[in-house]
Amino acid sequence: MAEFGLIGLGVMGKSLARNLGRNGFRLAVYNRHLAGVEENVARHFIQFFPELESTLPFDDLEKFVAALERPRKIFLMIKAGAATDEMINTLQALLSPDDVIIDGGNSLYKDTERRTVALAKSGIHFIGTGVSGGEEGALKGPSIMPGGDAQAYQIVQAYLEAIAAKDANGKPCCTHVGAGGAGHFVKMIHNGIEYAEMQLLAELTELLQFHNQLAPDAIADVFAEWGRGESNSYLLEITTDILRKREGDDFLVNKILDQAGNKGTGGWSTSTASELGVPATMIAAALFARYTSAHRGERLQATPMYQNGRNAQGEIIDLNELKTAYHIARVVNHHQGFQMIHEASEHWNWEIKLPEVARIWTNGCIIRSNLMENLVSILQKTNRILQDKEISKIIDNQQFILNKICQAGLKGNLALPCFQAAYQFLMAYSTARSSANIIQAQRDYFGAHTYRRIDDPEGKSHHTKWKDVSDS
Ligand code: NDP
Repeated sequence: MAEFGLIGLGVMGKSLARNLGRNGFRLAVYNRHLAGVEENVARHFIQFFPELESTLPFDDLEKFVAALERPRKIFLMIKAGAATDEMINTLQALLSPDDVIIDGGNSLYKDTERRTVALAKSGIHFIGTGVSGGEEGALKGPSIMPGGDAQAYQIVQAYLEAIAAKDANGKPCCTHVGAGGAGHFVKMIHNGIEYAEMQLLAELTELLQFHNQLAPDAIADVFAEWGRGESNSYLLEITTDILRKREGDDFLVNKILDQAGNKGTGGWSTSTASELGVPATMIAAALFARYTSAHRGERLQATPMYQNGRNAQGEIIDLNELKTAYHIARVVNHHQGFQMIHEASEHWNWEIKLPEVARIWTNGCIIRSNLMENLVSILQKTNRILQDKEISKIIDNQQFILNKICQAGLKGNLALPCFQAAYQFLMAYSTARSSANIIQAQRDYFGAHTYRRIDDPEGKSHHTKWKDVSDS
């Protein structure tokens, strides 16, 4: 008999199986059988790895379930959406009360909430968990973000914490995030933050190419230098490697088509920001930058149509200033991402502990960084990163540098949506009297939506007849 089951031997499932095997767990693995396409996948896979010597391979779901000790613990690592629903429905008929299904795919948190309720009717526990770290992370130790019933988590805790990455103090980068869909919500925001972090690095490359006339390997040298200090992050490291990669007599990046793809989590983050009323402007800017890039045909047509008066001026950018602007933009991005998690937690009573989320993101995951390490203690003091006194003092003294970098972008006619979004947000966030009084007046004018007055301490709603009909 096996103590832990894993379904789905794709890129992530294979790595997780090897990680579980390396940790000494008695495993059963299953991959579907598709005649002529996917046959004996599990049996073939385990042959190559000594750590999977005692693993039981299946392509028959009933036999796989029958091979598991009770309460059964089954980790799904398959395509999110309809495939996950189908698999859960099939499993539901084969499982017993107290069994636990863990969904490690990138499922939408609302689907996780729905599945939790549906499975509870059969007494089956459901843990929706984020997993980050890609193929290598899944193998060596990913960051794991489980959500769902806290008691059910205890049944699978030992397995998840054993295979997770470890933080600087040796603690697993895995924690029970909160009830229901909290785990998948947190993973969604992880990916949203990742979108903006990636976009900022793309914009830095653009700035250094245009203004400082640096070739990709020279930009890699700059990033490598930054990586030795407080700007270090996994994404900075991989971008450094990417920029150095040559193919023939050119750099590989120069040959890669400039159309960004996406698998949906940035879109979910942005639409959720809209549902919650949280200004996640950097995630949205990064997402829309990808969409704009994807419309390449239209960009090629528009390029000769809009060149008038574009006298791009190059100017050498001070590298320390660029690093400072990058740091400020990243702080704004993390502020917005963590604010989303905080607001969602309040809204759904998930009781998510932000410092714990930052802690499990310090290793194993794609957005691990020195900044994340620092945020663990900052988030113990405040839910709002930009309200922290130390952070605000530093940014207050250096915000003019972000302004300078945005101006360099404008002078060079460069599209810098994420740097601009960071600056615009910072300005709006720290403006006591915003222009929204005009919006409120307009709304009241055409829709009688009413407005509140600064000279009315009771906060009553007021309506004005802005114009006599006879005036028009
Ligand atoms: P792959 O495409 O490599 O593997 C997908 C797996 O799902 C395969 O085992 C596939 O089986 C199985 N599958 C697909 N459709 C069905 C179905 N209808 N019924 C049963 N099984 C099915 O994907 P990944 O391993 O990369 O990703 C798996 C999950 O993990 C996804 O939800 C993804 O979003 C998430 N994820 C991926 C990360 C990554 O970096 N790749 C990181 C974190 C999460 P078959 O081989 O037979 O087609």
